[in-house]
Amino acid sequence: MIRLELATAVAIYTFVTVIGVLLLWITLGREKKITQYTSWKKHIWQCAICTHTYVDSRHEVISRCPQCGSYNKRG
Ligand SMILES: [Zn+2]
Repeated sequence: MIRLELATAVAIYTFVTVIGVLLLWITLGREKKITQYTSWKKHIWQCAICTHTYVDSRHEVISRCPQCGSYNKRG
């Protein structure tokens, strides 16, 4: 059996817990950033007529340009 002092055992336990929380924070933060970026990119439109760039999160296939009023198709 390994003999440890109480202070050493508490220090090791705290160190391992902090490292675990940091690893979880880093891995979960990366996944969230990727999903936010892809969902934002889906809602950005650029008008084919006046080249105005705008955000429209309500329409998926066809969107109307707020600058000139023309319709833009995805793809
Ligand atoms: Zn336009």
